[in-house]
Amino acid sequence: MNNEELSEIDIRMLQKWGNEERAYNFIKEEFQVINKTCFNDELPELEIEIRPMFAREGDILFGSSSAGAEYYAKDSVMEARIVLYSVALLEEELAVTVLAHEMVHYWEDFTKNLSAEYSYPEEFDQIISQHFKDGIKQQSWRNGHSRRFLGKISEVAETLKLSSKRILYDAK
Ligand SMILES: [Zn+2]
Repeated sequence: MNNEELSEIDIRMLQKWGNEERAYNFIKEEFQVINKTCFNDELPELEIEIRPMFAREGDILFGSSSAGAEYYAKDSVMEARIVLYSVALLEEELAVTVLAHEMVHYWEDFTKNLSAEYSYPEEFDQIISQHFKDGIKQQSWRNGHSRRFLGKISEVAETLKLSSKRILYDAK
């Protein structure tokens, strides 16, 4: 991270971990743990990047989210990657929650040729419609979060004992 552009959140994050490397080590270890407990260790390692808050601003300007993390599928230029913003690393549980959410996107991408049907708990529909007062926003969120995604995320939340609400919305 370039020091001149650090915000208060970035500085608090670095103070919490001592340095960036320790934050990376934590995230990489958690990736292994989640991979083992929730994905049968089947997800190949991927690039995980921690980015300072200013990198997220464009996203906020366009009103798309206040997410702490994002998943980028592999494209012609870059390999698949998970990006976590400093805000997601201010507490361990939040970091694990958003990492797990992005890992489900990665899993979905990685297993897209498998056609297994997934069902998800009914309460999810309630959580989702309570969260989005705006029908268009809800639809656009749902377009990025399939039934399969929701089925897997409910399984992951249960295994890791994480809040369903947080695992649905604290990441993108
Ligand atoms: Zn998502």
